[in-house]
Amino acid sequence: MKTIHSKYVIVGAGLSGLTTAYSLIENGEEDFIILEARDRIGGRILTKDGIDLGATWFQDHHVNLSKLLDTLSIHKFEQYSKGKSVLVYNTMAPAHYFESQHNGPSAYRIADGSIAVINKLANKLEGKIHLKSIVTSINECDDKISLTTNGKTYFAEKSIITLPPKLASEMDFSPELPKSLLQTMKFTHTWMSNAIKVGILFNKPFWKEKDFSGTVIGQVGSVIELYDHCDHKENTFALMGFINEGLRETKAKIRQEKVLDYLTKYLGEEVKSYTAYFEKDWSKDPQTSCENLKSVYMSPQYGNEIYNEWHCNGKLLFSGTETSPMYGGYLDGAVYSGLNAAKKLLNKELV
Ligand SMILES: Cc1cc2nc3c(=O)[nH]c(=O)nc-3n(C[C@H](O)[C@H](O)[C@H](O)COP(=O)(O)OP(=O)(O)OC[C@H]3O[C@@H](n4cnc5c(N)ncnc54)[C@H](O)[C@@H]3O)c2cc1C
Repeated sequence: MKTIHSKYVIVGAGLSGLTTAYSLIENGEEDFIILEARDRIGGRILTKDGIDLGATWFQDHHVNLSKLLDTLSIHKFEQYSKGKSVLVYNTMAPAHYFESQHNGPSAYRIADGSIAVINKLANKLEGKIHLKSIVTSINECDDKISLTTNGKTYFAEKSIITLPPKLASEMDFSPELPKSLLQTMKFTHTWMSNAIKVGILFNKPFWKEKDFSGTVIGQVGSVIELYDHCDHKENTFALMGFINEGLRETKAKIRQEKVLDYLTKYLGEEVKSYTAYFEKDWSKDPQTSCENLKSVYMSPQYGNEIYNEWHCNGKLLFSGTETSPMYGGYLDGAVYSGLNAAKKLLNKELV
């Protein structure tokens, strides 16, 4: 088995891991490797043909993310919400309409899709990200920590694990992790891991022409939330939202028909003239979810102080959004935890 040595190993190339890596570089430390299980970077950030099938929105109070976007010169824009929004609280009753109050933006989106922040962070990380590297076991050995993937063993002085804690709890650790930590990890729900996202592209924003905002809200139909998802330059026209989890086990073709029929009922026949249709069920993605998700334990332990501690004699730290005491679960929490991990590795305030 091939062995590779570096000072630090970061596991996971999601927003948290890449923020740590970017910060290390900015602070003059280049001796590290990032191991990523998937064949792509971004983790729960995934943008396909301009559609954010993972994270999308943030708000003014998400200061860690906002500051990072400013540093990377990435622009934000307001979520479109002008016009009539649809409220469905009973599929047999006629639709109800409401208009958003415009006394400030409800949420922002990232220009060019959320993946823009991932791509910018990765710009300076050429050669450091090892894709398709699934870490299965972590062992403390003398003054090093070793991480085993499919085919290679990596040795480092310290390692940062940014997987959702519940997933990380399924790795093999030697010595075993403290029981209290393992228990906390197993009960830390992976934020949004049960979501099924849908994105639909069109040739024109027909809903805007009809004075609809594109927002359709209601827990009783095939789609529980839908929003306008045109890009900031108004070059691509799309709707994006969340499919009712009750359709998870329905055959893909039938689910798509149900989604389109439902939206046609509330937004019009133009829905059927879509040019592309995408879905992403995060519960079926083994790099975000795990089997025991089926019984969702919705008692987030985000930012539990147990995640503050180093393990394996100061060689192993758990990071990632679920470990963040600030906006754990959100993009902002991922940035906070990423910066915090870099600070702890370097043992100093960051520049
Ligand atoms: C559908 C959806 C919608 C969301 N919407 C929003 C939103 O609008 N606003 C918001 O603020 N947040 C939102 N979020 C949450 C947001 O995406 C996360 O907070 C953030 O992306 C988490 O980043 P992270 O780096 O902590 O974790 P992740 O992105 O999960 O990164 C962990 C990385 O570890 C990798 N990995 C897993 N197992 C292994 C292994 N064994 N070996 C090596 N690598 C491994 C994964 O592939 C992944 O790249 C949403 C999430 C989802 C899924």
